[in-house]
Amino acid sequence: MSKKIYLYGNWKMNNTYSETEKFFTEFPAAYDAVKADDLEVGIFAPFTSLWPLSQGAKKCGIVFGAQNVYYEPKGAFTGEISIPMLKEYDVTHIILGHSERRHIFLESDEVIAKKTKAVLDAGMIPVLCYGELLEEREAGNTFTVMERQLKSALAGLTPAETAKIIYAYEPVWAIGTGKTATPDQAEEVCKWSRELIGQKNAVILYGGSVKGSNAKELLSMPDIDGALVGGASLKPASFLEIYTAYKG
Ligand code: PEP
Repeated sequence: MSKKIYLYGNWKMNNTYSETEKFFTEFPAAYDAVKADDLEVGIFAPFTSLWPLSQGAKKCGIVFGAQNVYYEPKGAFTGEISIPMLKEYDVTHIILGHSERRHIFLESDEVIAKKTKAVLDAGMIPVLCYGELLEEREAGNTFTVMERQLKSALAGLTPAETAKIIYAYEPVWAIGTGKTATPDQAEEVCKWSRELIGQKNAVILYGGSVKGSNAKELLSMPDIDGALVGGASLKPASFLEIYTAYKG
């Protein structure tokens, strides 16, 4: 049996409510043509698109989720969205620590750790992103940076909790830039992460300009369990092509 592939799409700040409805007029037929036991597809939409996403995703039987959440359940936190709010939409998975949250919105390791714990406590699955900036890689600090990010998010968690997390290694220099890590670079980090996490069966995705043309070589690496996809996830064809290219 071939390994299970996780194909998760991060729409970022794209696809309005009506654009999400339109996406799901095309997606079901495209998904029916590729769906397989060894494929898990997930889509992560902006909060305002979660309702049409949840309706479309449930019909197709795919995973769906949000791109962020706050760790407190309610209160005076203007502009934030809580875990109970997302639960009412049947959200099960939440992206945390995406590099755009870390670097544009200045989310600290400490905040990401609190969010990770809160999501696990709620019985939901964090999709925990981590990765280095170009200058950190060039200065030879890739592993130091990622060790700090991962250790801080995992501190105090039980092995059962760390096993539930889905990890996403996303080198910041490869996100939305068209530059992809080479399969060897991505594999080196994912293998190293698996040891640091201490879970042989941890699910570790690679993210950074994944598309049909580079999917096969990346997803064939032994420690890469799937892809977190930004740009190519916005259209059903370019998204699902990542899986068919891997299989083809
Ligand atoms: C992402 O948003 O996590 C991502 C990897 O984006 P892209 O595929 O566009 O590089």
